[in-house]
Amino acid sequence: MTSSKEYMEIESIHGAHNYHPISVVIAKAKGPWVWDVEGKKYLDCLSAYSAVNQGHAHPKIVEALKDQLDRVALTSRAFHNDRMGLYLKHLLDVCGEGFDMALPMNTGAEAVETAIKMVRRWGYEVKGVEKDKAEIIVCANNFHGRTTTIVGFSTDPLANTNFGPYTPGFIVIPYNDPEALKDAITPNTVAFLVEPIQGEAGVIVPSEGYLRKIRDICTNNNVLLILDEIQTGFGRTGKMFCHQHEGVIPDVMTLGKALGGGLLPVSAVVSRKEIMEVFIPGSHGSTFGGFPLACAVGDAALDVLVEEKLDQRSAELGSYFLEGLQKIDHSRIKEVRGKGLFTAVELHEKARPYTEKLIEEGILAKETHDFAIRFAPPLVITKEEIDWALNIITKVLES
Ligand SMILES: *Cc1c(COP(=O)(O)O)cnc(C)c1O
Repeated sequence: MTSSKEYMEIESIHGAHNYHPISVVIAKAKGPWVWDVEGKKYLDCLSAYSAVNQGHAHPKIVEALKDQLDRVALTSRAFHNDRMGLYLKHLLDVCGEGFDMALPMNTGAEAVETAIKMVRRWGYEVKGVEKDKAEIIVCANNFHGRTTTIVGFSTDPLANTNFGPYTPGFIVIPYNDPEALKDAITPNTVAFLVEPIQGEAGVIVPSEGYLRKIRDICTNNNVLLILDEIQTGFGRTGKMFCHQHEGVIPDVMTLGKALGGGLLPVSAVVSRKEIMEVFIPGSHGSTFGGFPLACAVGDAALDVLVEEKLDQRSAELGSYFLEGLQKIDHSRIKEVRGKGLFTAVELHEKARPYTEKLIEEGILAKETHDFAIRFAPPLVITKEEIDWALNIITKVLES
């Protein structure tokens, strides 16, 4: 098999059609760059939805994985392993003040499921909510993953149609609306689950002060604040975690994507001991969660973020990139928005023709919800590479 066309054909015959990928067949990747099977080079401006913040095949993370492969990969949680405790301590150190226990899982959706189970149990056992009455408030246009429970409170018909009956106990309110949160809280409310910036909805940045307001409302009502930082975390928005822009600390945070350093699915829930302790042996778990290989990769992924100051880099280069995008002058552009290297350009017309043109010119970017194009390159990108990208993006969007 040699051509992109052949690879796409065999995939289409044998693979379920739950995605509609852009017509590029990637065969190799390094740093912010990827190559297709014909050898054409592209700048990756999606970063696997921010799972590749450290760049593709970062040598330090690859080496950590290889070293661990020679020792032990998988133990299950039936036994202890010599990586997990130190790794979780490392993770909590990076998370900073307010978090003192972590529960390791694999995918982001599993971390969100874990958080949901935890806050429900907290509601019954600590807050004193009557059995099976717990309510969790979520936002319209949320994206928290693909499990049956999670899609049950999605508002996107593409994600939830004909997957019912949905898990009860979720209340949907508008995003960026603290008053709506206040109004939706009842004595049965155990938590508010929200993204600090809505990623999949198209990089929707809430008003300044939103996180502080919802933090106060949750505190005043004995409701736990769960921030889903699976996409916004680990430097993407110009701080290690997006909530640090407003100096608030959630009660629970879900993490994933870049925690796996672009190599493995590695996720976690972090919280405080008194909340996390509702889990007792047998109440939750995962065969692979916390496996030594993931811990080794997670450790290295965190080291790279801290040592290379990728959060600061994202802040500086992100402002520069955003300014460059804002200079693009064409009436088809409705809005340019973002924080750090998490940006989007929203058009007045369908974005797909422009993403296709960008790909022809060597930039991998994907449209979200028809009208917006997200630009979220690996945080190891250089200023020169951003200049190169801005040139092409400007040319394509002004054409
Ligand atoms: C990607 C994402 C998830 C789901 O993560 P998976 O690893 O795909 O299960 C959850 N929440 C947010 C905010 C995400 O961006």
